Amino acid sequence: SRAVIAIVGRPNVGKSTLFNRIVRQRLAIVENTPGVTRDRIYADGKWLDRSFLVIDTGGITDERDPVQEQIRTQVEMALEEADAVIMVTDGREPLTASDYQVATLLRKSHKPTVLAVNKIENIAQTVDPEFYSLGLGEPIPISAEHGKNIGDLLDAALESI
Ligand code: GDP
Ligand code: MG
Repeated sequence: SRAVIAIVGRPNVGKSTLFNRIVRQRLAIVENTPGVTRDRIYADGKWLDRSFLVIDTGGITDERDPVQEQIRTQVEMALEEADAVIMVTDGREPLTASDYQVATLLRKSHKPTVLAVNKIENIAQTVDPEFYSLGLGEPIPISAEHGKNIGDLLDAALESI
C-alpha cells in the first residue's frame, strides 16, 4: 500500500512550509503566530514514480499548549500513522531542548527517520556538526521555502522504509 510520511519538529522550523512544498499547493497555513488553526494536515505527495501520503503533524496540535506536550502528541501521531518520519530542524538557530526531545522520542521508537536541516538557502554550505548530535544520522540540508534539496530528502525518506 501507499507509503505514509509524517513531518515532525518543534514549532517554527518550517514543517508546514515543507508540507506545502511537497504537496506543491498551499494547503497548510504557514504562520508565525501561536495558536493559529491549521486547515489541512494530510495530502497526497508524489516524487518521481512514487505516490505517498504526507502528514503535517504540527497541524494537529494547539500552539497554546506547552511545546513539550505538542511534541509528544505529534510524535505519537507520527508513530501511529507513518511508515517514515521527516524530522525538521532550523539550520539558522542552535538546537534547542525541544529538538532533542523530538529526536530522543524518535530514536527510541526505531521508526525510520530522516533529519532535515531547513532554512539552508545555500545547500553547498556544510551543515553544522551539532546536528549530528541528535543521533539521527546524516543531516540533509534543505530550504523548504526555496525548494532546495527536497528531492534528496524525499529519496532518503522513501528509501528508509
Ligand atoms: P512550522 O511551525 O514548523 O510549521 O513552521 P512554518 O512552516 O510555519 O514556518 C515558520 C517560519 O519559517 C515562517 O516564517 C517561514 O516562512 C519560515 N521558513 C520556512 N522555511 C524556510 C526556509 O527554507 N528558509 C527560510 N529563510 N525561512 C523559512
Ligand atoms: Mg506548521
